Amino acid sequence: MTQEELFKVLVAHCKEYGFIFPSSEIYDGLAAVYDYGQMGVELKNNIKRYWWEAMTRLNENVVGIDSCVFMHPKTWVASGHVAAFNDPLIDNKDSKKRYRADVLIEDYLAKIEEKIAKEVAKGRKRFGDSFDEAQFRATNPNVLREQAKYDEVHNRYKAAEDANDLAAYKQIILDCEIVDPISGTRNWTDVRQFNLMFSTQGSNTGSADDVLYLRPETAQGIFVEYLNVQKTGHMKIPFGIAQIGKAFRNEIVARQFIFRMKEFEQMEMEFFVRPGTEMEWFEKWKENRMKWHVALGMGAENYRFHDHEKLAHYANAATDIEFNFPFGFKELEGIHSRTDFDLGNHQKLSGKKIQYFDPDLGESYVPYCVETSIGVDRMFLAVLSHSYKVEQLGGGDSRVVLGIPAPLAPVKVAVLPLVKKDGLPELAQEVVNEIKYDFAYQYDEKDSIGKRYRRQDAIGTPFCVTVDNDSLVDRCVTVRDRDTMEQVRIPIAELRSMIERKVAMANLLRNI
Ligand code: ATP
Repeated sequence: MTQEELFKVLVAHCKEYGFIFPSSEIYDGLAAVYDYGQMGVELKNNIKRYWWEAMTRLNENVVGIDSCVFMHPKTWVASGHVAAFNDPLIDNKDSKKRYRADVLIEDYLAKIEEKIAKEVAKGRKRFGDSFDEAQFRATNPNVLREQAKYDEVHNRYKAAEDANDLAAYKQIILDCEIVDPISGTRNWTDVRQFNLMFSTQGSNTGSADDVLYLRPETAQGIFVEYLNVQKTGHMKIPFGIAQIGKAFRNEIVARQFIFRMKEFEQMEMEFFVRPGTEMEWFEKWKENRMKWHVALGMGAENYRFHDHEKLAHYANAATDIEFNFPFGFKELEGIHSRTDFDLGNHQKLSGKKIQYFDPDLGESYVPYCVETSIGVDRMFLAVLSHSYKVEQLGGGDSRVVLGIPAPLAPVKVAVLPLVKKDGLPELAQEVVNEIKYDFAYQYDEKDSIGKRYRRQDAIGTPFCVTVDNDSLVDRCVTVRDRDTMEQVRIPIAELRSMIERKVAMANLLRNI
C-alpha cells in the first residue's frame, strides 16, 4: 500500500468504527469540520489526559485553567491577530474556487522536486551499485534544468513572502503558468489578504465595533488571566499555565482530514520566565516535550525538530516537532519563545500593569514566555496513523489491528462469553462488575469468537477476556493480548492487576 492509499483506508476505517465522522454528513458534510464518534471521543479524552497530567502533575510549577472561546475584542488587537493573522488568497474566475496563493506555489515547487526525485531514481536503477547521487545531481542535464527552475521560483517566492508582496505572488503564479486544477484555466484574480479569524456579533447593537471573534488560539486566554493566576496561586516565576480548548480558524486549504480543520482543539502551555533566561527554558521545554512524545513508544525516528528560519512577529526562537504522518513529516507541535510580546501588549492596550516583582532581583518586569502548543486532533491523527496495521496471519487470513499505545486505547478490555447460554453471560457479567470501575470495557456476545476478536482488534482493545464452560468451574478466564495474540489463562481475581499493568496512564507518565 502506498502512503496515500494507507491514508484513504485510514479515513474509511475511522468512519466505519466510530472514530471520526464528517460533520453534518446527512447534509453532505461541511468542509474541514469533523465530529468524533463513540470511539474517537475516548481516544481523544485519553490523549488530553496524558497531556494534562504530564503538564500539571509532573511539573510542580504548572497549573491549569479553562478560559472562554469569546474574549474582549481588544485581545485580538493586542495579540496582533486582527492586523496580521492572514493568508494570501486568490480566486479562479472560471471555477469560482478560492486557493491559498502560497500553497499553489508550494505545490508547483513540490512537483519540480518530484520530477528531480524521479530522475534520480532512474539514474540509480541504471547505474546500480556504482551510483553516486551527488555526482548525478551535479551533472545530469535534466536534473540541472529542473533544479535551476526550482531555485529561481523558490527565491522569488521567499522574497514575496518576506516583503508580503501580494502582486509578486500573482506574478509567480502567472509566470509558472499554474492552472486551476478544476477549471484548468489561468484566469486568476489579484491576490489579497484574508483574515483567518471567524467573527460574530457580540450582542444587541449590530454595529461594526460590536464584533466578537472565535479565538484562533487558546494562548490569549492564558495571557489575560496571567495576573489572576499569579496572584491567587501565589505563583513564583518561573511558572506555567496550561489549557486545553477549542480554537477556530477559517482555513481555506483544508485538506488532509483532521490535520487541518476549521474547528479544532489545542493543548497549550505558557511558561513565564525571567527575561534573559528564555533560551535556557526554550531548550528545556523542547527536550521535555520530545520526551512526552517518545514515551508513547511510537518510535523516536518518527519525530524531528524543525527550526523556523522566518520567525513570527512575536518570537525570538521557534521550532516545530514534526511527526512522520502518512503524507510525510509535518508539524505536530510548535514550541515558541514569545518574549514579552503578549503580556507587554496587553499591558499597553488595557492600561493595567502586568508585572512581576522578582524578590531575588528586587525589581519588577514583564515576564518573558516560552510556549508549547500542540493540536489534539493532529496528535489523534499521529496516534491513529501510526497504529493502523494490516497483518497477514497465514492461511490467506489477515487482520486489521490498531496498535494504539494501551493507556490511550478507547476500550481497554472486552468481555466475551464464549456462548450465549449455560450461565456464561451471567459469569461474564460478574467479570464486568469486577473491572468496570477501573477500565473502559465492552461486553459482546454476538457472532463467533473470531469475529469478536477482529472487531476488538479494529478498535485497538488491548485485552479480550473470554469466559468459557471451564470458567464456571475454575473461575479462570482466557486473556488474549491484542499485539501478540497470545492467550493466557488466569483467575478472575487477578484480572484487574494484569490489565492495570499494561494500560495504566501512570506507566506512560513514568517513562517521560
Ligand atoms: P500550520 O503551519 O500547520 O498551519 P501553525 O504553525 O499555524 O500550523 P500554530 O499556530 O503554531 O500552528 O498552532 C499550534 C498547533 O495547533 C499546531 O502545531 C497544530 O498541531 C495545531 N493546529 C493549528 N492549526 C490547526 C488546524 N487548522 N487544524 C488542526 N490543528 C491545528
